[in-house]
Amino acid sequence: MQRFQYYIDGQFLDGEARFPSVDPATGKEWADLPEAREGDVDRAANAAEQALYNGAWSKMTATQRGKLIYRLADLVAANAQKLAELETRDTGKIIRETSAQIAYVADYYRYYAGIADKIEGSYLPIDKPDMDVWLRREPIGVVAMVVPWNSQLFLSAVKIGPALAAGCTMVVKASEDGPAPLLEFARLIHEAGFPAGVVNIITGFGASCGAALSRHPKVAHVAFTGGPETARHIVRNSAENLASTSLELGGKSPFIVFADADLESAANAQVAGIFAATGQSCVAGSRLIVERSIKDEFLTLLKGKAEAIRIGAPLDMATEVGPLATRRQQEHIAALLDKSLQSGARLVTGGHRPGGEGYYFPPTILDCDGVNSPSLVNEFFGPVLSVVSFETESEALALANDTQYGLASGVFTQNLTRAHRLMKGIRAGIVWVNTYRAVSPIAPFGGFGLSGHGREGGMAAALDYTRTKTIWLRTSDDPIPDPFVMR
Ligand code: NAD
Repeated sequence: MQRFQYYIDGQFLDGEARFPSVDPATGKEWADLPEAREGDVDRAANAAEQALYNGAWSKMTATQRGKLIYRLADLVAANAQKLAELETRDTGKIIRETSAQIAYVADYYRYYAGIADKIEGSYLPIDKPDMDVWLRREPIGVVAMVVPWNSQLFLSAVKIGPALAAGCTMVVKASEDGPAPLLEFARLIHEAGFPAGVVNIITGFGASCGAALSRHPKVAHVAFTGGPETARHIVRNSAENLASTSLELGGKSPFIVFADADLESAANAQVAGIFAATGQSCVAGSRLIVERSIKDEFLTLLKGKAEAIRIGAPLDMATEVGPLATRRQQEHIAALLDKSLQSGARLVTGGHRPGGEGYYFPPTILDCDGVNSPSLVNEFFGPVLSVVSFETESEALALANDTQYGLASGVFTQNLTRAHRLMKGIRAGIVWVNTYRAVSPIAPFGGFGLSGHGREGGMAAALDYTRTKTIWLRTSDDPIPDPFVMR
């Protein structure tokens, strides 16, 4: 068993308790992990507060902070392959994807390194002749970051990068499932030379560690990625410390294909949208909304592509779909699929959980036309696509917006004016036109409705980790006039 420690106040520690991590490709335990409970959460939050107000970090210039983040970016790039192998081992996400994604994580840190000394205050044109008034932008405080099991290095980078640029200190709680890569990443934080307490990385269970962290009195902001049910716990916890929250949650994202689209390209994008990452992606385009006249042709194309997907060991570079991350996830998908079939949804391909070891599930397509299928409403977070068809553009838009979520969406058409109408009409934080599942550190990312609030990526994300302070300076040497009148 490989052994991991977590990182508090610049020290690597064993934790209050230990628990095992399971390799999803074999179902066997492979790593021994530290479990943080309330005591460790408290130490980490106190260390972050000390670093924020008293340590070397609090005295650094923004440019010096940026240089440290650049160093971290270089270390991530240099260690990308090792981190990718760990993430693949611990979560089952295929090596093809983790190697590319983690190499790109270095660019996220680089982007925010550059932003560190571009966060500016402002001078206000105040309506009083003897006053100078300006706004300082200061770090929001100690940030709690709670991330889910999929893509932990990426989903933490979109929080850690902007928070460091803004000068915050933080406690990052890795998911209890697949935390090994994030615990290993702590070594790079240490090597980059961040002062003790600036970034603390722990792992533990949601109801104990996650809850203790999100309601901790020293925490000013909670940046959360995960499911809506957990988000409700986080928001309730924030009633105690009155921390602000940013919530990046799940989705049931529509993928609309019109008859005039380039169908080959749309089918490839749909495969990327629902079968990449074995469907365990918050932006999964899990509802295909296809024009009726091309439904059969498009489904035949898609079925062929789904059945040609190479399912296999996640560490094999040739594998395209690996195992799901946990048995819990495999059982959830199987149960929701059963309910959908009972409601009348028709299996186009896939659906049968293979025997043998590992948490595998095949690429699955469900024809849900004319059926009130739960698969159209609930998130599988797995490789299952639900299909409905439409006749008119307004029908397509109504189907796209028929969800409580609103994270992502895709539109495939060659008609420019129609594409513009849909961009405006779709209620989601991201609209991809003739593409899908593209991300960049420069482009904000986040949802509407049950998909949460707040944006990650872009300059705005760094500003969200700041708070303003209003400074009033009187420039007159005359005595203050009437003290009983507010000026
Ligand atoms: P989850 O909500 O179960 O867990 C996420 C994190 O919250 C874990 O670290 C967990 O330990 C912690 N947690 C659980 N209970 C808690 C509590 N009471 N208080 C505080 N923390 C608690 O999510 P998951 O199953 O790990 O991940 C899947 C979900 O994440 C899906 O819904 C998916 O769509 C969503 N997701 C969203 C995005 C996005 O950017 N929008 C990205 C990836 C995943």
